[in-house]
Amino acid sequence: GSLLTAQDLRKTYGPTTALDGAEFSIHPGEVVAVMGPSGSGKSTLLHCIAGIVMPDSGSITYNGREVTAMSDAERSALRRSEFGFVFQFGQLVPELTCVENVALPLRLSGSSRKEAERTALAWMERLEVDDLRKKRPGEVSGGQGQRVAVARSLVTNPRVVFADEPTGALDSFNGERVMELLTDAARSANAAVVLVTHEARVAAYSDREIVVRDGRSRDMERVV
Ligand code: ADP
Ligand code: ADP
Repeated sequence: GSLLTAQDLRKTYGPTTALDGAEFSIHPGEVVAVMGPSGSGKSTLLHCIAGIVMPDSGSITYNGREVTAMSDAERSALRRSEFGFVFQFGQLVPELTCVENVALPLRLSGSSRKEAERTALAWMERLEVDDLRKKRPGEVSGGQGQRVAVARSLVTNPRVVFADEPTGALDSFNGERVMELLTDAARSANAAVVLVTHEARVAAYSDREIVVRDGRSRDMERVV
């Protein structure tokens, strides 16, 4: 069955309707691309299904649990234990080294420094950035930084990685390399990936596409 489903999501910001009856579903281990033009509601959909933003109405179910009925604290615990996140910019802590950044989610959940950094380094090897362990984010390239961010998103063994325009700040060569490493690493960890993008060449790494237009989403498999 589905790991995560959402039905009839509605969300407004003042006079702006960001979501107008959007739906979503993903199976365990599946890579789904959420596509659509700028301003169509892709990021809002991602933030709702990831439990970051509460929709005004509609329902979200994760693994049989009603996310829309949870308290803020319960949603925050769900995000920490089950989800990983990769964003377009500014997600690495500039004062920490790359290995400390990757280890951070494990440190926050109580792992020792040694244990957290050992696991972090294994993920950095998988993403081919282990040689950057001692560098700070300001000393690495955009593509390297995104690979460090992908390693961090996977370090807690999440069931779902949410990636919002993860290659948006990269050239096409580095963007494709990040997508290849992200989807390979997620598949080997049996993590599902929700990928928000407006670029077809990025969506090409997915198993299935959901298209958002004016706050409404369509599962392309069902439509065609
Ligand atoms: P996309 O990711 O497809 O570009 P968004 O979900 O970011 O679309 O935005 C959908 C609509 O909602 C846009 O009109 C956007 O300006 C608006 N919007 C999104 N987030 C906010 C917010 N925090 N405050 C006000 N308006 C917002
Ligand atoms: P866009 O709306 O054009 O996709 P961004 O990709 O910069 O803009 O950010 C999308 C959303 O993700 C923003 O609303 C922001 O609040 C959120 N976001 C970005 N980076 C982080 C982060 N490191 N942690 C949590 N939320 C973030």
